[in-house]
Amino acid sequence: MTSKMASCIFCKIIKGDIPCFKLFESDKTLAFLDINPLSRGHALVIPKFHGEKLTDIPDEDLTELLPVAKKLALATGAAEYNILQNNGAGAHQVVEHVHFHMIPKPNAQEGLGISWPQQ
Ligand code: ADP
Repeated sequence: MTSKMASCIFCKIIKGDIPCFKLFESDKTLAFLDINPLSRGHALVIPKFHGEKLTDIPDEDLTELLPVAKKLALATGAAEYNILQNNGAGAHQVVEHVHFHMIPKPNAQEGLGISWPQQ
């Protein structure tokens, strides 16, 4: 394990050393609720392989990320949502472990009968 991995907050979540509200897990992928959500259901989808930027991740560790983001978007019932992925501090990346945000638009979720946990 590299020192960057040892100090990476998302690697600690993957290991179970920091709790999260888990939405999906496989051998290569983890999805969980964002701790500081921009809207109800705001989720993060991450590769378990540690890398700062998309270009640091092997192709085989990327294949599930968008299908999982798609499933989460469907699960919220939101008609409108953003999928975002920042690379580098200048591009507003804060946590240096690749992650896709899935952010439902707040007003698009109402009345659709999908129950998400309150945060
Ligand atoms: P930005 O905040 O500019 O989108 P990032 O793309 O690096 O920067 O996003 C990091 C995200 O990780 C933030 O939305 C933040 O709320 C989330 N986050 C940080 N720590 C945790 C945690 N322990 N559990 C869940 N989400 C977290």
